[in-house]
Amino acid sequence: MKVMLHEMSWMEAREYFSKNDIAIVPVGSNEQHGPQNPLGTDFLISKAIAEEVAKRTGVICLQVIPFGVSSHHKQFWGTISISSETFKKYVEEVCLALGYYGVKKIVVVNGHGGNLYSLEELARELRNHGIFVSIFQWWPAAGKLLPHMFKPEERSHACAEETSVNLALHPHIVDLSKAVDEQPRKHLAEAEGVTLPLDTVDYVGYGVWGKSTTASAERGKQIFEVVVEELTKHVVLLKKAKSEDLVMNPKV
Ligand SMILES: [Zn+2]
Repeated sequence: MKVMLHEMSWMEAREYFSKNDIAIVPVGSNEQHGPQNPLGTDFLISKAIAEEVAKRTGVICLQVIPFGVSSHHKQFWGTISISSETFKKYVEEVCLALGYYGVKKIVVVNGHGGNLYSLEELARELRNHGIFVSIFQWWPAAGKLLPHMFKPEERSHACAEETSVNLALHPHIVDLSKAVDEQPRKHLAEAEGVTLPLDTVDYVGYGVWGKSTTASAERGKQIFEVVVEELTKHVVLLKKAKSEDLVMNPKV
């Protein structure tokens, strides 16, 4: 059975949408992930998770949206960032296009933390259009489900946890011999209660927000399996749920 929308004909899509009101939409970013990881890390991981969950649940999966809100990485070459407004609008129009065919439940698999604010805002707005959007991010799920697998300094951007998942999924585009460990600097203007307009380059020299040299494909495989299982449970539950039972309407 096909689960990727772009591989279906319009008649196959009609068959799916006439029987189902749920879809999976992976999103990510194209941004620096240290010297060892590919720029596509965030969209490649969300795409892999989304496609595996689609296969296990029979829920349709869209092509990944590869660009995200990443301007804080721009000083590292090859980072392609779009504004939060453009990102939100793009995802919104994709969701509304699905809504036209009767989709009422959408699971967004987000591979990049910088996209979260826009996605949360969008999910609230789409609730008003009768579309229930849930947002899944693999790293907080991994932190909860496998709390002892990585130390806190291995769990941040481009660190051992993320590098391990890359090693498990696409080892041919990871060069672990280039991995570095970095200690984020303290900025001279930092103070309690103060937010500063800082970018990654203000904190670290190579783009690694902690320790990355301890990455391994084995641990990456375990993480992938655990987060896929967790998301599969969520998608199965949403697939069965009636959309009108997912949100409360005005009290009478
Ligand atoms: Zn990332």
